[in-house]
Amino acid sequence: MENTVLFFDTTLRDGEQTPGVSFHLNEKVEFARHLEALGVDMIEAGFAGASVGDYEAVRAVSKAVSTGVCSLARCVEADIVAAAKALKRAVKPRIHVFIATSPLHREAKLNMTRKQVLEAAVKSITLAKSFCEDIEFSCEDATRTEPDFLREICEAAIQAGATTLNIPDTVGYATVDEYGEMIGDIYQNVIRGRNIVLSAHCHNDLGLATATTLEAVRCGARQVECSINGLGERAGNASLEEIVMGLRTRSDIYQLKDNLNTSEIYRISRLAASLSGVEVPPNKAVVGANAFVHQSGIHQHGVLRNRETYEVMKPEDLGIPQGGMVLGKLSGRHALREHAMELGFDLTDRELNAAFEKFKELADRKKDITDRDIMALCREQMHGASGMYQIHSFQIFSGNRMTSTATVSLKMGDLIVTRADCGEGPIEACFHAVDQITGLHCTLESYQLKAVTEGEDALGEATVRVKNKDMVMLGKGVSTDIIEASCFGYINAVNRLIEAQKQSDVPSSDIE
Ligand SMILES: [Zn+2]
Repeated sequence: MENTVLFFDTTLRDGEQTPGVSFHLNEKVEFARHLEALGVDMIEAGFAGASVGDYEAVRAVSKAVSTGVCSLARCVEADIVAAAKALKRAVKPRIHVFIATSPLHREAKLNMTRKQVLEAAVKSITLAKSFCEDIEFSCEDATRTEPDFLREICEAAIQAGATTLNIPDTVGYATVDEYGEMIGDIYQNVIRGRNIVLSAHCHNDLGLATATTLEAVRCGARQVECSINGLGERAGNASLEEIVMGLRTRSDIYQLKDNLNTSEIYRISRLAASLSGVEVPPNKAVVGANAFVHQSGIHQHGVLRNRETYEVMKPEDLGIPQGGMVLGKLSGRHALREHAMELGFDLTDRELNAAFEKFKELADRKKDITDRDIMALCREQMHGASGMYQIHSFQIFSGNRMTSTATVSLKMGDLIVTRADCGEGPIEACFHAVDQITGLHCTLESYQLKAVTEGEDALGEATVRVKNKDMVMLGKGVSTDIIEASCFGYINAVNRLIEAQKQSDVPSSDIE
């Protein structure tokens, strides 16, 4: 058996199925470049047959990186052809064909018999193989499939040309032992002695995704499918950072290698949180803000003497910045860029300039600027702050026995446009006035306001999700004034929406 575990990242495909999350094309490319720096073996860039956006994403990622890139495809000819076309420029392309194999899915969803499912799989793998050497086959809902049928379809898939066999716990239903036994059974009876990689794909519905994945590795799986921060449908996928740190921290048990550069983990985890708008809970394993914080006096005392007393991993192995540089009023643009990089934000020149302006304003208003402040300023930039519309000024009348009214002026290049409108409260009035200017009538899907740090001079960070036509977009705004933060957040979401709508209007010449 091979002694290297291959990492297959599906943040851009399964991760994007997180409710409310959608990445733009350029965000997907940026994220893929970070995945390449992290050293993942395969990037699932999307589901080319599903939409023009996904097709373009697979194509753009294929061009941008030299690591493996794959596209998901149903057992449908059009899906496989779209995947093959989108992957044309990939250095290491893979088509990932799947079909549901469990009796429940066969009957309720596909309305197909065992025999029909098996034939569809073989036919589709054969077609995919005519385009691409590297073929992965997944049995959707494998953990609720009859074991004899699972063996039979896996054997047929190999005969048809599959080189990786994936056994997903699609609904996060399997117990750790059960999943290990299932993987062991396929390994012993189908895979052993052949040049085929067995793969695990686990979901976290019962909080077991990392545990089931690690058990699968112990029982013969040599590819793990996972996402950064465990993003994914419902309770999410197994999280990459937990799996790799599990394998490495307990290398005495697993004794396996991997190709990851774990010092990129913190950076990519921050990027995933900021692009998805799904913040990492403070108590999240490995990458949560509290993962290396010790509250109890006894623990602090121990850690000061020897960190191993209460820490099983080293924060530097994950690339977590070790305090170091502190920024203040006199820090320059260069220092801000360096610090932002350390915190996982790779800003463009335009974003850096805008962030630097806000940083200087903030330094006048606030004594201590913390990493959390810097991260909020960077997040705002990554969420549309340097887009088409900028806030020039706003004025609000609001009270408990009146309709709130807002007058908002927005800058578009050299042009300044002013409109007034009313609403239930000051924030709604502002949003309505913005809509008057942009002419886009957005529905507010969600709105959140939080203080970035403690204290009265804390920055407020507004996270605003808006919907227009079928597109949902997230914006972030930061200010010591909460109404201003909300306006920034809304404008930023609108800026990103306009940008994304422009992108999706580009006709795709070679999609069928
Ligand atoms: Zn999945």
